[in-house]
Amino acid sequence: MIELGDNTSRWGAPPAAIRAMRDAADAMLCGYPEMYSRTLKDVLARYAGVDPDMIVTGNGSDDILDSTFRGVAEPGDRLAMLEPTFVMVPIFAQLHRLMVDRVPLDASYRLPVDPLLANAPRIIYLCAPNNPTGTVIPRATIEEVVSRAPGVVLVDEAYFEFAGETAASLVREFPQLIVARTLSKAFGLAGLRVGYAIASPKMVRAIEAARGPYTVSAMSERAAAAAVELDGAWVRENVANSVAARDRLAIALRQRGLDVPPSATNFVFAPVANAGAIAKAMRERGVSVRPFAKIPQFCAALVESKGEALRITAGPDDEIDAALTAFDEARAACV
Ligand code: PMP
Repeated sequence: MIELGDNTSRWGAPPAAIRAMRDAADAMLCGYPEMYSRTLKDVLARYAGVDPDMIVTGNGSDDILDSTFRGVAEPGDRLAMLEPTFVMVPIFAQLHRLMVDRVPLDASYRLPVDPLLANAPRIIYLCAPNNPTGTVIPRATIEEVVSRAPGVVLVDEAYFEFAGETAASLVREFPQLIVARTLSKAFGLAGLRVGYAIASPKMVRAIEAARGPYTVSAMSERAAAAAVELDGAWVRENVANSVAARDRLAIALRQRGLDVPPSATNFVFAPVANAGAIAKAMRERGVSVRPFAKIPQFCAALVESKGEALRITAGPDDEIDAALTAFDEARAACV
């Protein structure tokens, strides 16, 4: 199966991380890891350009989102987010009994600021660039939201390396801002489960207090630190490969008449009718992609597709060729 459904690296994992995993096994298994990933925080702080006490690590960025919701909100508080956005957010919000306000994007895939603020949410979640649409949220818009928000703003930068833009430097000015990131995408290390966030030291303590120590395993900490320190060139190449492949995939889908918005990530979003049936038929042909349904119909392409769309991860040329062939056959079979 060619796995183009979860936006992970199709160019493998970085070499220093692989070496670190191989070397670590004997020494790392019988002891606990560092309580709060001190070594990894130092390395990530240098990468992010902030102080180590402004970094919190987690078991994937999923864990960062979950712990943040628990750490900064009480049951019954409101969380505002775009629709569509990262699917785990409403799930974590519901686990913590938060009330979720869903704000559709506008017809140009832009974020409408006033509706996000309308119910004075305790948390505003912004995914920049946004999953599943791949579209950007300009830094100026994030700054506007943060400066007007009554509570915490969590900016999820899982895909920021592909976009080249970050809100991280705003954290010093705005202590209510949290910027979450992951090693699962550009770093090619989804299996390690390492995420982190950049936040004020006070916010870092609140997130850690909501969750406790030892969330990053010793092996993961070692391999993640090696990758962030030593695999910069590999990551840049992985990003360049993904960006070129994503653009090729977007052009090919537009040539097929699909209205694919510009993506700043390693995947493309393609509104298309019968997306669920097409994804199933593609799977039968060996290619896994992610179907979406019931998306608000905020633009003409989503009206035409009745709110359905596919999200397809960029991969090497042979995988894109296979995906396009499977898509053409599946679409022909699904009309
Ligand atoms: N945020 C976004 C926007 C994502 O797309 C993902 C993974 N699909 C995550 C967070 C979670 O990533 P992880 O837990 O692997 O760090």
